[in-house]
Amino acid sequence: MKKVCKIVTGIIFVFVYKTAYCQSLIELPRPVVFTETELTLEEDEMCIDSLIHLANEGNIDSLKVPASKLYGYIWDNQFVNPYRQNVIHMPDTVMIDFSQYCHPNKNVVTSDFGFRRGWRFHYGIDTRLKVGDSICSSFDGMVRIVKRGRAYGHYVVIRHFNGLETVYAHLSKTLVKVNQVVRAGEVIALGGNTGRSTGPHLHYEIRYLGQPVPPRELIDWENYTAKYRIVDLCAQHFAYAEELEKIRYYTVRKGDTLFGISRKIGVSMDQICRLNKIKKTSILRIGQKLRYT
Ligand SMILES: [Zn+2]
Repeated sequence: MKKVCKIVTGIIFVFVYKTAYCQSLIELPRPVVFTETELTLEEDEMCIDSLIHLANEGNIDSLKVPASKLYGYIWDNQFVNPYRQNVIHMPDTVMIDFSQYCHPNKNVVTSDFGFRRGWRFHYGIDTRLKVGDSICSSFDGMVRIVKRGRAYGHYVVIRHFNGLETVYAHLSKTLVKVNQVVRAGEVIALGGNTGRSTGPHLHYEIRYLGQPVPPRELIDWENYTAKYRIVDLCAQHFAYAEELEKIRYYTVRKGDTLFGISRKIGVSMDQICRLNKIKKTSILRIGQKLRYT
């Protein structure tokens, strides 16, 4: 009798435990953007399961897309940054959930976020790949753009529930459609060498309200993992953009020489050469932009 009691108790325990655990998995809220004072999923925010359900019924509008309130209900399928938001001086810290993070292409970094050739700014990070390598979505989200551009080549932009957007460029093939709901880690495209690209690589950007965030501050590029489970995004992440605003350029005109430009703008030839990574003997092109601050 005692043995039977033990078995029955055991079965009841397993049943109760399983039910409770499964229930907690089902009810676990999906990550959203939340501020310090607002840490719960808002009633009208979409979670991925309800979004998939709506998408299957063809019932999607800009009110129902991920982080719709944050983005002012703008859902654009053409422009990478259609938002007129100035986040450079954002006053508050925004907490972004990185617990889902999946690395888009596990390979070495070949070019970093930052200045290139003196004045061009690289808003993403590049990783080496072979044409045809799988590219994954970093978080759950919804595909906002699938397009071919002159610079980006074939590219995909995804809006995520945590408030970020990610850009994947120079792809050989895209495997998703606009308004498609994707899960973290899902293969969305194949790597390639399209657009302004000198070899097969993935150009990857992380953006918040349209403004790129330096990817090394968020992700460990050696171990392919997120640096933090929750990122406190603040104005400091956009300090580079403030520096960019201060930069001045001179556009080379017909008949200009480096000596003449130097005298005209009052900046030494050495400084112009250093800032633009050119030599005093370099030939200037009409229309070329020379950084001088
Ligand atoms: Zn790039």
